[in-house]
Amino acid sequence: MIGRFAPSPSGFMHLGHASTYLLAWLQVRAAGGRLLLRMEDIDPQRSRALYADAWREDLEWLGLHWDQEVPAQSSRVSVYLEALRQLQEAGLVFACHCLRKDMNDAVRAPHKNWGNYPGTCALMGFPITDSVALRLNFAPNALVLRRADGACGYPLAVVVDDRDQGVSHVLRGQDLAESEASQVFLHQALGSIAPQCSHVPLWHGPDGRRLSKRDGAMSLRSLREKGWTSEDLMGYIAAAMGYLAHPEGCRPGDLLNAFRALPVRKEPVSHAEVLPLWA
Ligand SMILES: [Zn+2]
Repeated sequence: MIGRFAPSPSGFMHLGHASTYLLAWLQVRAAGGRLLLRMEDIDPQRSRALYADAWREDLEWLGLHWDQEVPAQSSRVSVYLEALRQLQEAGLVFACHCLRKDMNDAVRAPHKNWGNYPGTCALMGFPITDSVALRLNFAPNALVLRRADGACGYPLAVVVDDRDQGVSHVLRGQDLAESEASQVFLHQALGSIAPQCSHVPLWHGPDGRRLSKRDGAMSLRSLREKGWTSEDLMGYIAAAMGYLAHPEGCRPGDLLNAFRALPVRKEPVSHAEVLPLWA
């Protein structure tokens, strides 16, 4: 088994990320596999080296160690463009003239890549030039493969990386579940086998929406500054996942037996379940 931690270094790690990464760690360690760390810094406008350093530091602080850091996406653009050329030759790509802003949003936020695309441009047969956005001709998502400004789309980079790095298992947030069919299709189109994918619960804030950068109080940096230890946070995550009856300090390795014995929770975790952390 080969799994991966694949953060986007465009902000700080928060409690929801910590939960997903703990489960990814448990999945790989329970099977005696290898865990890769890959910085998904494909968006040059948003990615910052300081965030990448913060992710490494926070993962180490949590005790979620990885076996190898593979090259960051920003260093592999030529490989992604070669894959794009292959898809183009297979007739699987169409030019899209929808608003530039939509394209930017699609490349920036991983969870926004997968929304249904109305297919407006798919039937138009616009010529493929260097200055148009390109999409995968696979409904309903029509993944963005390249932005109008030439930047590679996140979905293409992820699939090519998983292929080249031999990733066999992916564990990620429930919000990405709807993209699975498109990703499997993209893997097949590029001659590889899609990793086995599992989806894990999101963490919600007091507003009922999933945690994001606006919930700065839940970043590991903020929680650490307030005096919480990594063992405390692990305890809260473990209790929310049903691995402990009550939140009590623990280390990731303490949870391996419970992870093996129990199915992974599917429902989102509400802020009320970890109220002391919000105080
Ligand atoms: Zn379009």
